[in-house]
Amino acid sequence: LRAQVRARGGDRQPAGRDSVQRNIEYMFGIVGIPVTEIAIAAQAVGIKYVGMRNEQAACYAASAVGYLTGRPGVCLVVSGPGFLHALGGIANATINCWPLIVIGGSSDRNQETMGAFQEFPQVEAGRLYNKLSVRPSSLEVIPAVIEKAVRTSMYGRPGSCYIDIPGDFVNLQVNKSSVKYVECCLPPPISMAEHSAVSKAASVIALSKQPLLIVGKGAAYSHAENNIRKLVELCGLPFLPTPMAKGVVPDNHPNCVAAARSMALQHADVIILLGARLNWILHFGLPPRYRQDVKVIQIDICAEELGNNVMPAATLLGDINAVTQQLLEEFSKRSWKYSLNSEWWKKLRGKIKNNEERSKELALQKSLPMNYYTVFHHIRELIPKDCILVSEGANTMDIGRTMLPNFYPRQRLDAGTFGTMGVGLGFAIAAAMVARDRTPGRRVICIEGDSAFGFSGMELETICRYNLPILIIVVNNNGIYTGLDANSWEEMLKFGDPATCVPPVSLLPNAHYEKIMSAFGGKGYFVKTPEELQNALKASVSDKQTPSLINVMIDPQSERKKQEFPWLTRSNL
Ligand code: ADP
Ligand code: MG
Repeated sequence: LRAQVRARGGDRQPAGRDSVQRNIEYMFGIVGIPVTEIAIAAQAVGIKYVGMRNEQAACYAASAVGYLTGRPGVCLVVSGPGFLHALGGIANATINCWPLIVIGGSSDRNQETMGAFQEFPQVEAGRLYNKLSVRPSSLEVIPAVIEKAVRTSMYGRPGSCYIDIPGDFVNLQVNKSSVKYVECCLPPPISMAEHSAVSKAASVIALSKQPLLIVGKGAAYSHAENNIRKLVELCGLPFLPTPMAKGVVPDNHPNCVAAARSMALQHADVIILLGARLNWILHFGLPPRYRQDVKVIQIDICAEELGNNVMPAATLLGDINAVTQQLLEEFSKRSWKYSLNSEWWKKLRGKIKNNEERSKELALQKSLPMNYYTVFHHIRELIPKDCILVSEGANTMDIGRTMLPNFYPRQRLDAGTFGTMGVGLGFAIAAAMVARDRTPGRRVICIEGDSAFGFSGMELETICRYNLPILIIVVNNNGIYTGLDANSWEEMLKFGDPATCVPPVSLLPNAHYEKIMSAFGGKGYFVKTPEELQNALKASVSDKQTPSLINVMIDPQSERKKQEFPWLTRSNL
């Protein structure tokens, strides 16, 4: 294992797409029997090891490295419970289609089925949510297994791979000459769509009256930003990013119709789907959210995805960046452009204006405690344009997504396809590590609901230990969805045991989360007014060295603005 890692580390290159494809750079985990030596060995060959406080957060961090760099991060865990805690991160990575390698220690081979310390059927349990779940049969084959896992995690639709290392392997000796070292795998091959499919897609698009391009996080992952922007401009297409595809084309691009999302989805007659699944995030592609007769042109790297929920009008199997290039060439030949004076564009623009005004009204409300919109308004004004935004929590994530623009690709990380709460701090740590190495000075800003923050709150210690200048903003409404103010809380307690009378959505009112940050040497701010919020934001944005946490108290009953359609109120979007 160690030598294989060294072989990979040997040809390190400066940051860039090529080097990203070739080296494993980051490992996140929690050490213990039997994996401590593996972490030490990894450090010895130049892999950055970040020791976390819970395997789940470690696994989320490693998976975010995969999304951000295109090369899997590694999560290292101990046997049994350590492995089980990581399963959440494994499932999250595979469901998000992100590459990830998990290395788990397991009990010694000669104690198997005897009730060994932390014994658990890890390879079997790993199978459901990994593309590959294996235990090398001997020390000699470890390099080949690692190569296969790294390759499998990245090729085709990306996902997680699990490698099981029995405890007795860790300190076994082996004759070096009997180990066959395997070259590091090549970058994923790039596939293109059939010519006939490209031409069919172009014909359908050219006949559309109300086209819409939807950009998904597969497009962000494939680094297709330049080609997609060209396609949008060449063809005059309105586009809509999914949550994590925000910034592939900047949110302030004139063709972005995110602020008219519902209308765009509901009335589009042709939808070009670039690396997004027709799952719950896109309301399955079905009525009432879409027209019954909508024609979907689906572009994806995974053949099995094509045709899910809706019969597509054209299917383009291939890498988004390559296929977008094919579409660009096809449209250059046809010199077709959708008219900016069309009724469709007029309707979309009218809707955008109207929706933006509704948010603005709420943002400018002066009443205290603040509402979500006021908080996000000030955050938007004061954070750097190129920061990486991590966001989770129900209302915090949903309202934040509409209020905070993204200008660059792969700079938004959130609960994702699995809707996972608790990912924020792990993602932020990964993003800060990657930013430190590749784009020094770029800030990571992690905006958390108070409930979401609680899942991995102890990672603040990790953040301070590695001195990662992350700014965490906890939008605190004393609860899950909604909470109680301090007075109502006291009233509730009069009824008796809190376990029987406090609403299940409630968390402790006015919890001082910022004090956890100051306990570890970071800066903590407790804010209740717009002025305090502005001051805390200015201070923490300008301090580029110190981790900080701003705990923003908002109205515990603050809600998102009223939804126009009843089917929207229960979903996350
Ligand atoms: P979103 O959450 O943004 O809607 P999804 O995660 O549902 O996006 O969909 C992403 C899709 O992108 C997946 O179906 C995945 O197979 C696909 N994908 C990932 N990488 C590539 C790539 N390089 N080229 C084409 N499709 C890709
Ligand atoms: Mg909350």
